[in-house]
Amino acid sequence: MRAELINTGSELLLGRVLNTHQQWIGKQLTEAGYELAIQQTVPDTGSSIEVAVSGAIERSELVIVTGGLGPTGDDMTRQRIAEFLEVSLVEHQETRDRIISHFQKRNRPMPESVMVQAQVPEGSTVLPNEHGTAPGLAVPTSKGWLILLPGPPRELRPMYTAYVAPFLIEELPPTRQMVTRTIKTMGIGESVVEECINKELSKFVAKGLEIGYCARMGEVDVRMVAYGSSGPRLIKESEVIVRQCLEKYVFGVDEDRLEDFVVRGLTERNQTLVVAESCTGGYLAHRLTNVSGASAVFLAGHCVYSNESKESILGLPRTALEKGAVSQSVAREMAERIRVLHEADYALATTGIAGPTGGTEEKPVGTVYIAISTAQGTRVIKEFNSCDRETFKHVTSQQALNLIRREWYKKTRHSGGL
Ligand code: ATP
Repeated sequence: MRAELINTGSELLLGRVLNTHQQWIGKQLTEAGYELAIQQTVPDTGSSIEVAVSGAIERSELVIVTGGLGPTGDDMTRQRIAEFLEVSLVEHQETRDRIISHFQKRNRPMPESVMVQAQVPEGSTVLPNEHGTAPGLAVPTSKGWLILLPGPPRELRPMYTAYVAPFLIEELPPTRQMVTRTIKTMGIGESVVEECINKELSKFVAKGLEIGYCARMGEVDVRMVAYGSSGPRLIKESEVIVRQCLEKYVFGVDEDRLEDFVVRGLTERNQTLVVAESCTGGYLAHRLTNVSGASAVFLAGHCVYSNESKESILGLPRTALEKGAVSQSVAREMAERIRVLHEADYALATTGIAGPTGGTEEKPVGTVYIAISTAQGTRVIKEFNSCDRETFKHVTSQQALNLIRREWYKKTRHSGGL
């Protein structure tokens, strides 16, 4: 089953908007067993859309087009496609009602121009938009289906999950069965990961298992794919081997994030966490509070960026700060004091030099101290994260969260303090 994706939007070609639909839809299609064979990005002009779509529906059973379904003059997808498929646009009453109710609920005046979105190509299936006014459309073609989706990601993604994916399973079931599993690791490099598992998995590779590695900031994913009826067993057995080889480093599977793992772990253990952040500037608290249910275990996050706030909020002695706020002893004090202040089970603290200024020969830009404190003791690690400020925050927060993960891992091996 061949699939094609056409992303419309001059802003994509001008480099003003990153084409995240390509990545997101590509992932959805691949995981469902479709082969995304061609992707094109075309400007908003009607003729470009027509050329791209007419070629694609000749070649491929499934063609997905994103963008250009809105009410403004540059939104031409629906109109242009109806024209060249030689079908008329007809009013879809349910969509009309939805648009009216969308504006009524928000107490906003409704411009008459939005009603163009209730015009749908005759014979098409309407895919409701629960987060906007332009519905998605599934239009039959001689080879299969042409799916039109709205541009804004917050509209497209829920629509795809709720309506497009089930529609495709029903109308264009994938011809090959595919199973994927991603094992997520932290604290180990990509080539070491490969070295650890390559030999052990060779017999599965001989049976058709495909392995891919993806290194991202502070993490390495091991992605396994297998096809056909033996796929699920192959993946299951391979996962056991990967987990055995990389046990110390695995924190999750598929879409899991390290912060999910930490919040889940705290919830299961009925334990609490606080953080005191200097160089991560609240990023650690931000990641933790992105996890639903964090309020049950995450008590507080203090962004103590200046020496004054480290002194006034945490009570750190001025003399210690004057000796050097980026130091092992300050990280230790920050973690211990915040834990005691909130009577939490765990505390994390970060202090470092994100740069590009502020480094010295002794403490170059990228130097960071991260502390974890529990009632059993406090441990501080020193890392060197020489990168831009945003990456620095992410990698440092990753290393901090990983301290909790390692703590739990050690506890499962043998009991004892830090
Ligand atoms: P609207 O009613 O907002 O006009 P539309 O269906 O006509 O919706 P577009 O006008 O093409 O969609 O895109 C609307 C916005 O959606 C763009 O400004 C952009 O921010 C975002 N967007 C569109 N295409 C993409 C894409 N491929 N990747 C990421 N964002 C996109």
